[in-house]
Amino acid sequence: MSTNPSTLTDPMSGFWHDDLATADPEIAAAVGKELARQQDKIELIASENIASKAVLEATGSVFTNKYAEGYPGKRYYGGCDYADVVETLAIERAKQLFGCNFANVQPNSGSQMNQAVFLAMLEPGDTFMGLDLNSGGHLTHGSPVNMSGKWFNPVSYGVTEGEELIDMDAVAATAREHKPKLIICGGTAYSRQWDFAAFRAIADEVGAVLLCDMSHISGLVAGGAHPSPFPHCDIVTSTTHKSLRGPRSGIILWNDEKFTKPLNMAVFPGLQGGPLMHVVAAKAVAFKEALAPEFKTYAHRIVENARALAASLEENGLRIVSGGTDNHSMLVDLTAKDVTGKAAEAGLDRAWLTCNKNGIPFDTRSPFVTSGIRLGTPAGTTRGFGPLEFRQIGQLIAEVVDGLSKNGPEGDAQIEESVRGRVAKLCADFPVYPES
Ligand SMILES: *Cc1c(COP(=O)(O)O)cnc(C)c1O
Repeated sequence: MSTNPSTLTDPMSGFWHDDLATADPEIAAAVGKELARQQDKIELIASENIASKAVLEATGSVFTNKYAEGYPGKRYYGGCDYADVVETLAIERAKQLFGCNFANVQPNSGSQMNQAVFLAMLEPGDTFMGLDLNSGGHLTHGSPVNMSGKWFNPVSYGVTEGEELIDMDAVAATAREHKPKLIICGGTAYSRQWDFAAFRAIADEVGAVLLCDMSHISGLVAGGAHPSPFPHCDIVTSTTHKSLRGPRSGIILWNDEKFTKPLNMAVFPGLQGGPLMHVVAAKAVAFKEALAPEFKTYAHRIVENARALAASLEENGLRIVSGGTDNHSMLVDLTAKDVTGKAAEAGLDRAWLTCNKNGIPFDTRSPFVTSGIRLGTPAGTTRGFGPLEFRQIGQLIAEVVDGLSKNGPEGDAQIEESVRGRVAKLCADFPVYPES
């Protein structure tokens, strides 16, 4: 292809016609290998999912070209008629899906949605409360390396040492002592149900705004497989790419009109410029999918599968933090096997089972090593696995971990090869993007 810009006016120019493989073989090859990885390995990362062809198509659409700073009907650019159509649909569908009065669908990511809430609700130095990272909280809930921990004053709450459940007495005591302006419930590695009403009572007592970051569980909330943070929480944020199964992005939801101006102003112009309209379009598509009756079945199946996986792991000698799961995820404590999370993640990857190492409550190892792994069922459930398959996956994980326990970080090559064979069979029986 000529680099002469005048060739762009030629309707036959490669610019208009070349597919990715022709235009950029190196990137096309990496995309092809990533597709094969997703097809041939079992995805157990709790924060990942497999989006529909329609969501991928919207994400790859011509809306990638469009600037639409502002909000529907109040834009700073011309030509926003169709941008208004997709954003209005995304807003209306999000409100319907989660049963709330207002939605902002512009945050580019989960981190940015939370930054927007901080910008709207707090001044630098203000005190807020969130779940400790070591107990399953998120970076953006006050980690010292994150802006939330650097520019604000986080006080954290955690889980109890024995039951490994959120310590509501400690939440109340910490709130009374520190009088936070904002309390955050929700996390990334907590496998039990959240008691939103109890958080509401504490927030009311100390006069705090209550935020639920339901990123991990929003698909379950949408499908009725986890209680809703509404009406208890003032503001609810969520990523859209985890159990909700949309594009990589974030949303902010609320009920009280008094939050509308501060939150919308915080997203734009406070934090972002032009929204990613192709991603807003894909969010609208994902919300439509989540409003369909089949999504309820999907959400309940995620939880059923997580229970089956946890039971199978326990039967095979592995300890589940807090003794089980109520949602899509679980933490596996490998301490008794003398296997680190780091070694387990690598060993399982060699056996084509993808997961992440994760600290367990009161972990004595560093975050780069850890004593646990986090597992989730949303992606496997999307490809069609049921409790039977997840019981088998629990068995496969336990075999790999036993190999690591016996031989150290190199694991048992024979076991890992045998597991790969059984993973390949499961993947062939439940294909991902079968036409690609
Ligand atoms: C994933 C997650 C986020 C951040 O999302 P990104 O899109 O990765 O920035 C924020 N909060 C919680 C609870 C999450 O699980």
